[in-house]
Amino acid sequence: MSSFFNHPVISVDEIIRPTHLQIDLNTLKNNFEKIKAHAAPAKVMPILKANAYGHGLVRTAQLMQDLNADYLGVAVIEEGILLREQGIKIPILVLGGIWGNQIPLFLKHDLTITASSVEKLKQIDQIAASMKVKAKVHLKIDTGMERIGVHYYSAEKFIEESLKYKNINAEGIYTHFANSELRDLSYTKLQLERFNEVLRFYGKHSIELPVRHASNSGAILQMPEANFDMVRPGIMLYGVYPSLETEKTIEVKPALMWKSLVVYFKVIKAGHPVGYGSAWKSDHNIRAVTVPVGYGDGYLRSMTHKAEVLLNGKRYPVVGTISMDQIVANIENDSAYNGDETILIGSDGQNKITVEELAQWAGTIPYEILTNINTRVPRVYIG
Ligand SMILES: *Cc1c(COP(=O)(O)O)cnc(C)c1O
Repeated sequence: MSSFFNHPVISVDEIIRPTHLQIDLNTLKNNFEKIKAHAAPAKVMPILKANAYGHGLVRTAQLMQDLNADYLGVAVIEEGILLREQGIKIPILVLGGIWGNQIPLFLKHDLTITASSVEKLKQIDQIAASMKVKAKVHLKIDTGMERIGVHYYSAEKFIEESLKYKNINAEGIYTHFANSELRDLSYTKLQLERFNEVLRFYGKHSIELPVRHASNSGAILQMPEANFDMVRPGIMLYGVYPSLETEKTIEVKPALMWKSLVVYFKVIKAGHPVGYGSAWKSDHNIRAVTVPVGYGDGYLRSMTHKAEVLLNGKRYPVVGTISMDQIVANIENDSAYNGDETILIGSDGQNKITVEELAQWAGTIPYEILTNINTRVPRVYIG
């Protein structure tokens, strides 16, 4: 498990592979503190699923723990177990559902369970009893996502049940928004209304409220009335906004740069095609450089004929089909040398290439760009 999630963590001088991610811990810290200040008095649960959106699960979790984050959120139990094995002590909520025989593992590693049915509560209670522990549970209410969770219109029975088991501490209750990054917040408001309706149960029966949480980045930015007791920032923690139309009410900065080096320089003659499928050629001689990154690293092939890179502060187009391990950039009449820094994501002087741009080139969303930068790319931490 560790080898699957762990990246080689090395310093800049030790880099063997020219292609690497540089993650600025100071920027991550500033982003976290800005979100915290904005959401206060709500607590903050940084979301670290999918290798902390590519930024490295363990290192990001350590930083968040050092910054006194209240809770951590991951998607799957393996991520939670790895964090426990790496010495993370603060509460961790696994946002995904429980599958198969995972409940004993949750309890053994003190991971908080998302409960999404009455049946699951019963199983959790029985196993917790047999292990002589109290299970920490957050109830998942489906207010309009139709993924996991008990529907808002059936939630009363679910909450009642959660209170009845002696070996369960139903310390939290939450829902998830489907469209909170849009300018049009009507559906998010409807979801919020439904969640508030569910929460009235506690007041009606004079039962102490559990920790209520709902907001992902879009809602944190655009709908502060949904902050409740805790917020769950994911993408904005990494300095990327959930969509181009989301209001940027909190200023966060990208924490990650994706860099490589020129490893080859040549002149390509007019009419000589570049790459697989011979899909691109120039009608005049060009100078070109080869950079050792490709879709095998998560530099998506669907960006072919659209992608650009920064070299010595200037933008150049990637030409030919993006292959698994290498790309070629057309520098026309300019000069470049082996070892010149090439930026795939990040800034150099006045120019920058953003995650959003890559997403547009690939026809996807920034989330997918970040989470696709895979384990072959070493992570280097600065700050
Ligand atoms: C991924 C996720 C988040 C964070 O979403 P962002 O849009 O990245 O902020 C919050 N809550 C849940 C349940 C999630 O799955």
